[in-house]
Amino acid sequence: MTPTHAQLQWVLNHISEMLSCPQDGTRLRYGDVECPHCGADIADVLEAWAARLLEGLPGDPKDQ
Ligand SMILES: [Zn+2]
Repeated sequence: MTPTHAQLQWVLNHISEMLSCPQDGTRLRYGDVECPHCGADIADVLEAWAARLLEGLPGDPKDQ
C-alpha cells in the first residue's frame, strides 16, 4: 500500500517519542537495544512502543 500523509506523520511523531529504561528511568535513544546505563534488556519497552504505533495508525480513507 502507499502510505497516506497522516500515516507518515503518525510514524514520524512516534519515532521522536522518548522511551525510558524500566529499571532506572534512563532515557533511551532510537536504535538502543539495551539500557546504556544499566544494560537492562528493553525489548519489552520497544515492543510496547511498536504496538502503540501500529494500533493507532490512521486508516487509509480509501479502505473505508
Ligand atoms: Zn537502565
